Amino acid sequence: MRKKIVAGNWKMNTTVPEGVELAKAVAAKAKEVPAGVELVVAPPFTHLALVADALKGSPVKLSAQNCADKEKGAYTGEVSVAMLCSVGCDYTILGHSERRQYYGETDAKLVEKTKLALAAGLKVILCVGENLDEREAGKHFDVVSNQTKAVLYNFTAEDMKNIVVAYEPVWAIGTGKTATAEQAEEIHACIRKVLADKFGAQVADDTTILYGGSCKPSNAKELFAQPDIDGGLIGGAALKAEDFIGIAVSF
Ligand code: PEP
Repeated sequence: MRKKIVAGNWKMNTTVPEGVELAKAVAAKAKEVPAGVELVVAPPFTHLALVADALKGSPVKLSAQNCADKEKGAYTGEVSVAMLCSVGCDYTILGHSERRQYYGETDAKLVEKTKLALAAGLKVILCVGENLDEREAGKHFDVVSNQTKAVLYNFTAEDMKNIVVAYEPVWAIGTGKTATAEQAEEIHACIRKVLADKFGAQVADDTTILYGGSCKPSNAKELFAQPDIDGGLIGGAALKAEDFIGIAVSF
């Protein structure tokens, strides 16, 4: 059976001491979460080493929010996958819509980043999702299918064991507007079909697909009850341990 995951994307929030406190609070509450649900926190780069310490002895996994598309060298301001591994990261998020929109993250770069991450032993949470214009034009299935193919069709069934997909409709991120459970489910089923077409039904069935976009304790239960929704990538609500855990106990 595929893994259930609730991952918290802290984005550019919290100072280092605040982040360490938040990580400790999440670790302390992790025992409330049903067995088989994996918790992941993704703090900013500056926090990772100290958050790794704060999580020691807890089951909570550590993720970065991005990584460089180069292995090492003269790339000022970048952070490599080797650096992330050296501070104890288990995952990196890639292709978040904010990175695609504000930092010119292209599918080609995401392929390079995913290759480097997997080669270093990091798992990848790859984000896909349509914007409001695309949804209103009825293009959401095509947009999400194409984003998924553009990156993941460069990988193998074996690689897919270490890749999680997160469907995050851009119009639902940080807006308080959640996709309905039906809207999310039909896109998740579509992503799974795209994966099945390339890697076969078993790989598609084993791949964890998360929903992200204004997910909170009050709507997580209905979303997580859908057959193809295997958890959430959480932004705003991940900044309070109580809300984050409140979402993870919704399975
Ligand atoms: C996100 O950006 O990954 C996200 C899901 O944000 P929010 O939960 O705040 O909508």
